[in-house]
Order: sequence, then C-alpha cells, then structure tokens
Amino acid sequence: MTVSGSVLAGLSEAVIDEFTAIVGPAHVLVGEDLTAPFQTDWTRRWSGPCGAVLRPADRDQVSRILRACHARGLSVVPQGGNTGLVGGSVPRAGGSDIVLSLTRLDHLGEVDRTAGQVDAGAGVTLARLQAAAAIAGYGAGMDLGARDSATVGGLAACNAGGLRTVRDGTARQRITGIEAVLADGSVIRRMSGLVKDTAGYDLPGLLIGSEGTLGVITEVRWRLVPERPARATALVRLDSVTEAESVAAALRDALPSLELLELMTEAGIALTLEHLGASAPLPVTAAWLLVECAARTSPADELIDALEALDLAERTVMAPGATGRRQMLRIRESHTDAVSRAGTPHKFDVGIPIGRLASFVEAATATSRRIAPGSQFIVWGHLGDGNLHVNVLGAPPDEERLDAAMLALTAAHDGTISAEHGIGVHKPAYLSLVRSDADRAAMAAIKAALDPGGILNPGVIFGTAA
Ligand SMILES: Cc1cc2nc3c(=O)[nH]c(=O)nc-3n(C[C@H](O)[C@H](O)[C@H](O)COP(=O)(O)OP(=O)(O)OC[C@H]3O[C@@H](n4cnc5c(N)ncnc54)[C@H](O)[C@@H]3O)c2cc1C
Repeated sequence: MTVSGSVLAGLSEAVIDEFTAIVGPAHVLVGEDLTAPFQTDWTRRWSGPCGAVLRPADRDQVSRILRACHARGLSVVPQGGNTGLVGGSVPRAGGSDIVLSLTRLDHLGEVDRTAGQVDAGAGVTLARLQAAAAIAGYGAGMDLGARDSATVGGLAACNAGGLRTVRDGTARQRITGIEAVLADGSVIRRMSGLVKDTAGYDLPGLLIGSEGTLGVITEVRWRLVPERPARATALVRLDSVTEAESVAAALRDALPSLELLELMTEAGIALTLEHLGASAPLPVTAAWLLVECAARTSPADELIDALEALDLAERTVMAPGATGRRQMLRIRESHTDAVSRAGTPHKFDVGIPIGRLASFVEAATATSRRIAPGSQFIVWGHLGDGNLHVNVLGAPPDEERLDAAMLALTAAHDGTISAEHGIGVHKPAYLSLVRSDADRAAMAAIKAALDPGGILNPGVIFGTAA
C-alpha cells in the first residue's frame, strides 16, 4: 500500500519505506482500517494502537525487521493467531508498537517417519499440524479449542497445554527444536530434532514459554505421537468437585490409555448448553467429568471396568459413536466461547496441586461472592493436570481487588498464577506471589542479556518496570 504523510502513528516515512523494502508493500499495514483486527485480543479486554502491522514471509525478513527495530529502539509485539488470553499478543495501550504478524511463516515439512517429527513454520496452525500428522499416521499430541487459529509459534511461546496434557504434556514436551530470531536480528537454530542434547544452555527450552519477550520463534520441530485411532469417551455426573477430584485420581491410576480428564461445573454447563442450544446428555449436577481413553485397539472395556470399579456405571453416559463423542467434547470446548459471549470475564488460568483443587474452588467461590456480589463464578478445567480455568462474570472489568484476591488464594494453595496462558500484561503485578526476588532477578537478567533495548513485547511478564 502507498503511505502518505511524513509521520504515521509515530513512525516516520523513512521507517515505513525501510519495512516496505523488506516485506513488500502489501505486507506493511498502516491505518486503522487495516490494523484494527491485530490490535484487540480474543477476550476484547486488551487493545492498543500500533504504528504498523508487518507480515514477513520468512526467517530472513523477520531478522531484517528486528535488526531495523533494534537500531531504532522500536518495540515489537510478536503475534500468531491472536488467541492468547492474557493480552500479550496485542499492542499496549498508548504505545506505537510494531505488530509482527507471523502467520505467513506457514511452511510445513514432510513428516520425518524415522524420527516421528515434523518441521513447522511458526505460522502453521495447530489444526493444520494435526491434519498433516493424521495423514502420515501420527497424532500431534496436542489439542485445544483454538486449534483453527492458534499457531505453533504461539503454542511454543506460551508453552501451551490443552485437553491432552495429562498424556502428552505441554508444548515443551512436544518440541525438540526451535529456530528463533533474537532482538538484534541474530538467528539461533537448533532444528536437528535431537531428543537428548546437553551441549550448553537449553536455549530452545528458554524460548518456550517466554511469551515473545526473548526472541521471535520462526520455526519449530514438533515431536509427533503414535496414532491412537480407537477411542472411548464417557461423561460422568458427580455431586461435587471433591468427588470429581478423587474420581479423577482413581481413573488416572487405573487407565494406562487415559488421554483426557476434564472438569465442568454446574454454572458453566448450564451457560454452555444454553449458548449451544443443546440438550444435556445426562442430568446437570455439581460436576461433570469428561473422560477419554485412546489406544490402537478399543479401550472401551478398560474404561467401563474402571468406572464400574468406582461404582459409577449408573452415573455415566458413554459416547455412542463419533458424533456423540464430538457432542460431548463440544460442550467442554465451548465453555470459553460461551463465557466470552456472555460478557467480559475476569479470567484466571491457575494450576493447583492435585488434592487441593476442591478446597481451592470452595474458597475461590466465596472470594468472588465477597468481592463482587452478584457476579457469576464459573470454573472448569483440565483436572488431570490440576489446571483450572476460573472465570468471574459480571464483576466490573477494573475490579483489581478480585484479581489480587484470586491470585493470592492460588499462591496460598501452593499453586501457580499461570498454568498455560502465560503472564502477559494481565499478571506482572502478581508474579511476586509465585516467584521470589532472586527468581525474578534472574529472569530480568536473562531478558536484559538477550534484549538489552527491551524492544521485544515490553510490558509482558515483567510489567512496565522491565
Ligand atoms: C477458545 C480458546 C481455547 C483455548 N484453550 C487453550 C488450552 O486448552 N490450552 C492452552 O494452553 N491455551 C488455550 N488457549 C489460549 C491460546 O490458544 C494459546 O495460548 C495459544 O498458544 C496461543 O497461540 P497464538 O498463535 O494464538 O498466539 P498469540 O495469541 O498470537 O500470542 C500469544 C503470545 O505468544 C507470543 N507469540 C506468538 N507467536 C510468537 C512467535 N512466533 N514467536 C514469539 N512469540 C510469539 C505473543 O507475543 C503473545 O505473547 C485457548 C484460547 C481460546 C481462544
């Protein structure tokens, strides 16, 4: 596009010309009409203006952009599918950041069957990775509701988890190699896919979960899992989160093929069923547990035996086939969407030690009622790995006391304030609840060493003081 005027949102014409020379005129987006979709996050809670959106096509273009930004002190917000839930993927209010959209880095290699791995550009969506893996007879070993938009670069940057973490781990367990561009434009590349490599610091490991603050991930090498085509899925109604917690522990120990262990609770189930216009596959109770086993041959008997041993057969509905299974999963996956459609919630992605989840839920419910009377407390989550998604609807968006109390409660339960979404711009003020002074100082030293100008995603993790 042609840019007129000498200054656009803080960027000079010379800078825009430099970017245009790197990515081509069609991929330098300026002006509200073009940049608006990149400026507001999925939750609509965070938004900010940007100087320009740049859409590089490859690693070398990313490197040249970062070199230019580094030289000029321009701050950069890396963005993948913009499905992050803590405000880290969009510009800061009052800033004039460059948004670096990575969706054009979408090359996907052939599956390497010898290693069971595949190279994927940062912009490849999880759904595309899953489809390519399936064609080659593998699974991606990861699944989450935002699969159609979330990119592998974003999954790596957030150390994403999702619905199958109980079996296949988070992005950290799936990634064996990373290529990334550092703040000064230099490139690090460790893409040989070695499962064991202790030659010096684990820089890929450091970049995983760094939320775009240490480097821009341009490619990952993804470790696939063997295909598990036979599935058995059940929905179990329970009387309390306490009961769900103990049933979940028993199923985890009894089921080698366990792949999914998800909690839903009454308020969220009701809201989601209404949002979907769906009927309940079993009576709505205080808690539902969605359980799925997967293997090469049918794990149905194994699952039924385990449920019978716990005397839960009467309270269980088995998915009758692929359609029934999809309906059950849809109810769980649509919780995020249903809550978001109902308002702008206070959202918390906490990790609580298994064994203390029910007591946390009880205390968190009381806390939200005390601080935001009339608000609606909704919790669901990945029970198998202790990750709860706590949402409070109807509280004023700027009610900081709610965030402070909820996260302090999390810390008091020996939990983490972020199990999978990251710190973003939502939670820097609360990092000290779970990271000591020495811990935060070490992280700040790493940030200063790799990004001395502080241009990469300023405000994320460390807040404005970084
Ligand atoms: C409906 C729904 C369901 C979800 N379910 C889950 C779930 O079950 N588990 C889970 O973990 N998350 C979940 N999420 C959150 C989100 O999908 C993940 O955090 C995902 O990893 C974000 O990927 P993205 O490409 O959209 O990244 P973005 O949102 O674009 O960015 C997220 C962060 O990563 C940084 N980043 C993005 N790409 C790069 C890159 N190439 N290099 C460096 N930094 C980068 C950004 O700066 C930002 O800080 C869900 C979100 C939605 C909307």
